[in-house]
Amino acid sequence: MTENHQDYADGIAAIDAHYIRPGLAAIHLLVEGDKAAFVDTGTNFSVPGVLEVMRRKNLRPENVAYVIVTHVHLDHAGGAGEMMRLFPEAMLVVHPRGARHMIDPSKLVAGSVAVYGEENFRRAYGEIVPVPAERVIEAPHEFTLELNGRKLLFLDTPGHARHHFCIFDERSGGMFTGDTFGISYREFDVGGRAFIFPTATPVQFEPEAAHDSIDLIMSHHPRAAYLTHYGRVTQLPRLADDLHRMLDDFVNIAEGVRDAGAMRHQRLVAGLESHLLECLDAHGCRLPPDEARALLENDIELNAQGLEVWMDKA
Ligand SMILES: [Zn+2]
Repeated sequence: MTENHQDYADGIAAIDAHYIRPGLAAIHLLVEGDKAAFVDTGTNFSVPGVLEVMRRKNLRPENVAYVIVTHVHLDHAGGAGEMMRLFPEAMLVVHPRGARHMIDPSKLVAGSVAVYGEENFRRAYGEIVPVPAERVIEAPHEFTLELNGRKLLFLDTPGHARHHFCIFDERSGGMFTGDTFGISYREFDVGGRAFIFPTATPVQFEPEAAHDSIDLIMSHHPRAAYLTHYGRVTQLPRLADDLHRMLDDFVNIAEGVRDAGAMRHQRLVAGLESHLLECLDAHGCRLPPDEARALLENDIELNAQGLEVWMDKA
């Protein structure tokens, strides 16, 4: 482990995207012989850190065969165009529903600017670089690719977003889950046991689909999951149970404030926060509540927004 990346077994590493804070977003690197693939890209500002790790591993830009984005939210795909510009042999692999947004990011950018404002958007993401259409591979459900003979299986996994897939690496038994298998920050580990919770980011959160996608992931009996937020987790049956239960809890908390009018958002945030802090306590986490709250703040806000968008559609 260095400050910038962590090596796991089977040629897999997590590189810190340095998005918002260290330990929040990972870019996974998969190396097989002289070929490499990235799963998720962080933002444009993550790319120098990626190049530094490549130098240490003696990987050249031409060694990168694939840049894979689990979905097109910008903490996962914001750096994809810049990586494609730097890696001349690479193909971009994306869900069929996300491909057009990588080729022409203008709608993606406009959506984000509408939420964050122009200045905050530029500060967080910079200039999103389009990817030439001829360098894009669309990966539908059960699509397979080989990285130097190492088979990667793509699974359509809606729930967090309809443009989301997961990637199963049969050789290691690892599943790269993006945001479909929730969020698990290493700060919340207790005695090697991970704490996990679902992510309901706007605007395509669908709880039923999220449950089904967790079951689909587990049906492949993965030995480990590699989460973009953050890194490798094991003991997956326990974590899958926790995700199913907390998805239901989140939905119930949202339903409970459905008619709260102008107070709805505030009450939903408070409800999610106290629920997550209770779950952390039951997990045995002894971080001071203020510290735990600070680590969760951003996700609680996004979850509240996503649950409200879902409720207003339903
Ligand atoms: Zn994410």
